Amino acid sequence: MPPTDPALADELVATIRKWVADVVIPGASEYEHADEYPEPFVEQMKAFGLFGARIAPEHGGLGLDTLTYARLMEELSYGWMSLAGVLNTHMIAATLIERHGTAEQRSRWLPGMTLGEPRAAFSLSEPDAGSDTQAIRCRAERDGAEYILNGTKMWVTNGERAGLVALAARTPEGITCFIVEKEPGPEYQGITTSRRIAKLGYKGLETVEMTYTDHRVPAANVLGGEEWLGRGLHLILGSLELGRINIAARAVGVARAAYDASMRYVHQRETFGVPIHQHQAIQFKLADMATKLEASKLMVRSAAERFEAGERADVEAGMAKLFCSETALELATEAMRIHGGYGYTSELPIERYFRDAPLMIIGEGTNEIQRIVIARGLLKRWAEANPS
Ligand SMILES: Cc1cc2nc3c(=O)[nH]c(=O)nc-3n(C[C@H](O)[C@H](O)[C@H](O)COP(=O)(O)OP(=O)(O)OC[C@H]3O[C@@H](n4cnc5c(N)ncnc54)[C@H](O)[C@@H]3O)c2cc1C
Repeated sequence: MPPTDPALADELVATIRKWVADVVIPGASEYEHADEYPEPFVEQMKAFGLFGARIAPEHGGLGLDTLTYARLMEELSYGWMSLAGVLNTHMIAATLIERHGTAEQRSRWLPGMTLGEPRAAFSLSEPDAGSDTQAIRCRAERDGAEYILNGTKMWVTNGERAGLVALAARTPEGITCFIVEKEPGPEYQGITTSRRIAKLGYKGLETVEMTYTDHRVPAANVLGGEEWLGRGLHLILGSLELGRINIAARAVGVARAAYDASMRYVHQRETFGVPIHQHQAIQFKLADMATKLEASKLMVRSAAERFEAGERADVEAGMAKLFCSETALELATEAMRIHGGYGYTSELPIERYFRDAPLMIIGEGTNEIQRIVIARGLLKRWAEANPS
């Protein structure tokens, strides 16, 4: 994608920031505590064009570069992290199709996806295959011009509302990526929501287990065409780099919200006759929080720029995801300490930051797996730069 005009990027970010301040922040806690899908928010996100944020203008999208996309994800997450989750699986699927789909696949799905019709889910994980993606058991068997899907996929975020699922399944050649079309809802031609997963945070949007029983997919829905049979994991792992940048940007949004709430509170709350920002213990917390927040922003920028350049960004995206998510967890915890007992109540959003932040150390590959990815990438680059 060509770089987004900086003035346009700033304008978009300012528009979303204002909407988040005026509409999302006042309403998020009610939806979140009720675990209710924020339909009006999602409709407005569609109207802003966010479902097509990274899809090229030739398909009707905004064609934003990765950095601008990341900045928008940060703004949404500043108001409520789940809103970035509504878009993340959609954008991973759209990126897979845009980067690797055939011309026919791109023109068939991308124009609708820019409008959020259909919305997309991304389905790699299974009950016994999370970090260990090679353990995938969902299988696709060829039958004439179709494949028959059987198996169980776990943790399908947006799965029920999706009309399209980018799905990894085992074929005789290896792991293959299929684009599965379905009607939104719990039941469609052998695709069943077999379990709705109750979560600590990341509420308002569904994460479900989905079972496939003899569901038929046209062979034409193999991502990239049949020459990509058995090589789907390679495509998926590349797109997960975008997912990891999304998680890192989300983490910055949550961390910034926790920091700003803390900064406000230290001016309001007095103990021992002075505002608590006059206590050095609190000042040290603020200093550490602001430092890590600043570093996180720079890491998102670095990862986004590398991904945008079309280079393998596994190291940078992994580093950003690792550092920013740990920072979000730390800042949410520090914000709770700073707010004392009030931080522990459901009257303030601090407890939400505290419940939402842990998702980001797990989702899109746990932080243990990020360390493996980073180390492997660093060693490979070293070996390439220093051939023996
Ligand atoms: C709310 C939520 C939404 C999600 N949404 C989606 C989605 O939309 N689509 C999707 O496909 N997936 C989704 N996931 C799945 C997510 O990507 C996995 O949970 C994650 O990859 C970890 O897999 P696991 O839960 O099976 O943990 P496991 O792989 O079982 O790991 C358990 C522990 O062992 C550690 N571990 C595992 N292997 C190693 C190793 N080699 N070395 C060191 N430590 C290791 C892990 O770091 C972790 O601490 C979602 C998860 C959650 C919680």
